[in-house]
Amino acid sequence: MLKFLKQVGDYTKEAVQAARFIGQGLSVTFDHMRRRPITVQYPYEKLIPSERFRGRIHFEYDKCISCEVCVRVCPINLPVVDWEFNKETKKKQLKHYSIDFGVCIFCGNCVEYCPTNCLSMTEDYELSTYDRHQLNYDNVALGRLPYKVTDDPMVTPLRELVYLPKGVMDPHDLPPGSQRAGQRPEEISEQLEQNSEKTQA
Ligand code: SF4
Ligand code: SF4
Repeated sequence: MLKFLKQVGDYTKEAVQAARFIGQGLSVTFDHMRRRPITVQYPYEKLIPSERFRGRIHFEYDKCISCEVCVRVCPINLPVVDWEFNKETKKKQLKHYSIDFGVCIFCGNCVEYCPTNCLSMTEDYELSTYDRHQLNYDNVALGRLPYKVTDDPMVTPLRELVYLPKGVMDPHDLPPGSQRAGQRPEEISEQLEQNSEKTQA
């Protein structure tokens, strides 16, 4: 009899434990039902890259003075600056410029240090090819205007999910002009400035 009662007790304990674990599991499921979806139906929908996104480099041929600073600051001496000395003008003349994006690590050093600002990082990230040699962009390819998610009529641009307003469930149908959940970088710097002014006063 005692053995039977012990068995019933163990069974009840296990049943209660199982019910608790099922409850815990379902609470996670129900919690996810309230969360925002993070799925992006690429390539029909694309996220708008952040303002400081480091994508494909854009190059302006006419601004380049062939100083080769970009080569010296590059961790792998990647940009190829082909120039010749013009005896008449006594200046370097750029003949050819190229960057191999199959090797580039998109650190942005070249862009940062270029004295004439002829390099800039774009939001272009779709660089995949079947042949890696096609990633070696010459000055013509580098000079192409960058692709913009917002300019493509075939694509639905989506805002970054971190900036979605509080309470908005669907990132695919955001009401215009609504408040963002996250703070933008300029809002944070504004706040920091105000704080430093307060401490100085
Ligand atoms: S640093 Fe700028 S100006 Fe100098 S070679 Fe490179 S791209 Fe041209
Ligand atoms: S982004 Fe960095 S790795 Fe790429 S070319 Fe510029 S300096 Fe070199």
